[in-house]
Amino acid sequence: MGAGDDWVEQWVRPEVRALRAYQVPDARGLVKLDAMENPFTWPEALRQQWSEVLRGLHLNRYPDPRAEELVGSLRSAFAIPERSAVLLGNGSDELIQMLALTLALPGRTLLSVDPGFVMYRMLGIFAGMDYVGVPLRAEDFSLDLPAVLAAIERHRPALLFLAYPNNPTGNLFSAGDMEEIIQSAPGLVVVDEAYAPFTDASFLQRAGVPHNLLVMRTLSKMGLAGLRLGYLVGPPDWLGEIDKTRLPYNINVLTQVSAAFALRHAEVLERQTATIRTERARLLEALRGLDGVRAYPSEANFILFRVGTGRARAVFDGLLQRGVLVKLLDGAHPLLCDCLRVTVGLSEENAAFLSALRAAL
Ligand SMILES: *Cc1c(COP(=O)(O)O)cnc(C)c1O
Repeated sequence: MGAGDDWVEQWVRPEVRALRAYQVPDARGLVKLDAMENPFTWPEALRQQWSEVLRGLHLNRYPDPRAEELVGSLRSAFAIPERSAVLLGNGSDELIQMLALTLALPGRTLLSVDPGFVMYRMLGIFAGMDYVGVPLRAEDFSLDLPAVLAAIERHRPALLFLAYPNNPTGNLFSAGDMEEIIQSAPGLVVVDEAYAPFTDASFLQRAGVPHNLLVMRTLSKMGLAGLRLGYLVGPPDWLGEIDKTRLPYNINVLTQVSAAFALRHAEVLERQTATIRTERARLLEALRGLDGVRAYPSEANFILFRVGTGRARAVFDGLLQRGVLVKLLDGAHPLLCDCLRVTVGLSEENAAFLSALRAAL
């Protein structure tokens, strides 16, 4: 071990050293079905108009610190309740970080369910909180309500996240169970609706009722992953405090203007997400027709599926050899053993995935 290693060991926080950096595989040349991106690009006429808008920008100036025009566009596009405030993040990941920074104290708990979205745990730990993940039910990844309520009682979490629908399982938790959890939580509850464009269920109109209920969303999964824009909706007093942990100018000029432009043409994105929903049903049916595959229901733009015992890595490699990248989940959590996750792509991409999967199986 060289001197550099000693220094790293001495100074880097042990909880950071124990983590693995967020992994993003190289997808060049592959059918990319690993990251829940919208596979559609924009029509040429729209791209033209967008470049005209960008031409008018001046990059020598800082962006509008509150991104007021964009907030207005979000309010009308998504019918955000008037009583609620809106806080923007550089992706909803940044909002999770701001929430953790606002509530973290040594010994305080961030609670969620597992398998769930990994950034809750990572960002909670970065902020110095304890993470508690209550296991979902093994049969169908539904909430284990008694276990969640017991964990709330025991850990009194300052911050509780529920993804609705959940990632990486794709299912929508029972609204009644969610309700009971919200009523029992002593601290802040955040319903993460990253997959809102792919389901009809939502808590958005309920933000702030009760007062500790916030709703978080992102434009990433609906088709603007490259812009990095998330938004948090809730009571002005809560959001005013969380806003203090925001880095100045966190939403850059290009994102502010491009997202507002995209929302003026929301019907294009809506057509795309509607097509993805149709493709999702077709893909699920096809997966269910395959021997040796168990595909789980999804209200998101991806499908979780399980292959034969001990086969997931080989299936993943087999898909990769045939040019298709999905997400290998086996090993990520005990409940995900033998599981993979595929993002719903263009119909030809889904067909390529299915034929590669048939061969890999
Ligand atoms: C993808 C995802 C996010 C993060 O979205 P960004 O806005 O791209 O940071 C948040 N929550 C869940 C559940 C997700 O799947």
